Amino acid sequence: MALIELTKQGLYCAQADMYIDPWKSVPKALITHAHSDHARGGNGLYVAHEHCIPLLDLRLGKINSQGVKYGESIHYNGVQISFHPAGHVPGSSQIRLAYKGEVWVISGDYKLEDDGVCAPFESVKCHSFISESTFGLPIYRWKDQVDVFSEINRWWKQNAADGIVSVIMAYSLGKAQRILKHLDQEIGSVIVHPVMGAMNAAVRNFTPDLPADLIWHKDLTVSNYRNALLIVPPNSAQTMLEMFHPCSISFASGWMNFRGGKYQMSAERGFTLSDHADWEGLNKAIDASGAEQVFITHGFTKPYVKWLREQGKDAHELETLFNSHMESEE
Ligand SMILES: [Zn+2]
Ligand SMILES: [Zn+2]
Repeated sequence: MALIELTKQGLYCAQADMYIDPWKSVPKALITHAHSDHARGGNGLYVAHEHCIPLLDLRLGKINSQGVKYGESIHYNGVQISFHPAGHVPGSSQIRLAYKGEVWVISGDYKLEDDGVCAPFESVKCHSFISESTFGLPIYRWKDQVDVFSEINRWWKQNAADGIVSVIMAYSLGKAQRILKHLDQEIGSVIVHPVMGAMNAAVRNFTPDLPADLIWHKDLTVSNYRNALLIVPPNSAQTMLEMFHPCSISFASGWMNFRGGKYQMSAERGFTLSDHADWEGLNKAIDASGAEQVFITHGFTKPYVKWLREQGKDAHELETLFNSHMESEE
């Protein structure tokens, strides 16, 4: 029997009696990162990278957890388990499981570009690699983030000169910190939604160079902040937006350039910025793993598996609950 199998609860290692990012409550879970499609409530024990734990606490309330450092080995019933940087969001990991010479790596979500906030992706050799494929089509190729952030800063600067508040809608774990880190703070103040403020504060505990932000509250004197940039989660910012009217609204996502663009919202600008690997990134990561067997999940599984097979890879589709084509991070 293979070391990792797919069950109704999710990926499972029977030898260690542990699930990986389970979507139903289980006694013991290994968690790749704190996004809600990977870390659900109700598990007996959460084992994750030590920086992921406070983010899990924030999202799920107090949980029973075990934090592990990158590269540190823990053992469950003879299975050696370790966490390695996935470069996706703060505290995100690939999880390596080894037993009697057989090595599996579960990627979770990942990207290869160093975003300047979280620990950069590290390739881990294995026999079997389970990879996400959120952007597993050749049309997805990201620009360098330097270029995206200079677009964002230029847009903000122009708005500030015109006395219009800039608003970026973004996910509160990952994207929010990445944007905050690369904004040109000379232009004006950065104001964040309270949910993001709490997330940023938690991340700042282990990432002290994350710039400061101003957490929104209803008594804020708007006239003092006409040159501000607001970072808000996509669906919970109505009051903020009304208060700062007139504003220019944008959205930062990997999906911006596609599907007719504006992510079903009234955003005027889209910035293509993703915390997932693009087509080239996925292929590079799979090659670098040296894996004999590749399992594809979480995205464009069918076409991507077909393409990998055409390249001579022993690739398989893994039917998981994650096979939606959207980043469902909130
Ligand atoms: Zn994620
Ligand atoms: Zn995900």
